[in-house]
Amino acid sequence: MNWWQEFEANIEQYAPLGPLTWFHVGGCARFLFRPNSATNLSLVLKRAHQEGVPVRVLGAGANVLVSDAGFDGLVIKLNHPAFRTVSWHATTAQVGCGVDLMPFSRKCSEQGLVGLECVAGVPATIGGAIRMNAGGSAGEIGTIVRKVTLLNPNGTLDNWPAARLQLGYRTSAISRHVLLVAELEFDADDPKVVSSRYEKLFQQKQQTQPLADKSAGCIFKNPAGYKAGQLIDTAGLKGTRVGGAVVSDRHANFIVASKVASAADILSLIDLIQRRVFEHHGLTLEREIDVWEPVGQEAIAT
Ligand SMILES: Cc1cc2nc3c(=O)[nH]c(=O)nc-3n(C[C@H](O)[C@H](O)[C@H](O)COP(=O)(O)OP(=O)(O)OC[C@H]3O[C@@H](n4cnc5c(N)ncnc54)[C@H](O)[C@@H]3O)c2cc1C
Repeated sequence: MNWWQEFEANIEQYAPLGPLTWFHVGGCARFLFRPNSATNLSLVLKRAHQEGVPVRVLGAGANVLVSDAGFDGLVIKLNHPAFRTVSWHATTAQVGCGVDLMPFSRKCSEQGLVGLECVAGVPATIGGAIRMNAGGSAGEIGTIVRKVTLLNPNGTLDNWPAARLQLGYRTSAISRHVLLVAELEFDADDPKVVSSRYEKLFQQKQQTQPLADKSAGCIFKNPAGYKAGQLIDTAGLKGTRVGGAVVSDRHANFIVASKVASAADILSLIDLIQRRVFEHHGLTLEREIDVWEPVGQEAIAT
């Protein structure tokens, strides 16, 4: 019996991952699973765990670079309505981790719910945003997370209070867990005030970042006391190209992929930027994006 038996209807084999990411590059997932319930997901995770099959979760794919060789394991995509529900109790929401962050955050702001203006214009699912503790200079989503329901890598269900998530600068304690539901607690204010703050932050983002291009947002984290974009810019790297990958002219911490770009082009450009910034500034840039290397090469990834 195959470990995926009974779930064939929801599991696609050799599924291209590029179109499911913002970079639009990379190879196939050996298995792409779109579960229709948490129970089925738990069962499949349990079996994959027993068989030693590597597992990844793909949200909106806005912070993931899939290698050209693809991912030889199980990729989970939570886009079934079962993972996209939202229920409210006063200013507290139980939000499915497959919910799209952008429309959700805008709607909250329009209703005078304070807390998600800091992620205005950030492409994500709720799960991906919490895993990455998405945000910017105006704050981070972690501020309003109270608890989460998740599946452990072996498929067992768990509830974690926010403190256990250890949310930090684009980091969390979530590694091979699957976030299912998040409890978010908002403050309330005048809808006009919250909404105008949201739109202002959204406009700022549109003016300074190449949001219409194929990218994964900021490639590198800001080293303490520095802006990675400025370090890259002053190292003279804006416009630098490797194959179909280019350092954005609008924001030097963005790599933009053209139609002919490969994951290898992007990885080579990342490597080049890291070397040049080190030569110019003596600083090592740490990747913010999650690179899905072929299994076996992950140990050498930074
Ligand atoms: C144009 C653009 C602008 C951006 N601007 C910003 C910004 O201003 N601030 C910012 O912080 N980020 C920004 N980003 C990066 C990206 O939007 C965030 O990192 C976002 O949180 C990624 O969410 P996602 O759903 O796309 O996750 P993915 O990219 O799909 O995944 C990211 C990580 O989260 C994991 N993951 C996803 N869903 C789950 C889940 N349910 N359970 C467990 N793990 C999960 C994945 O396995 C992966 O490790 C930008 C990206 C783009 C393309």
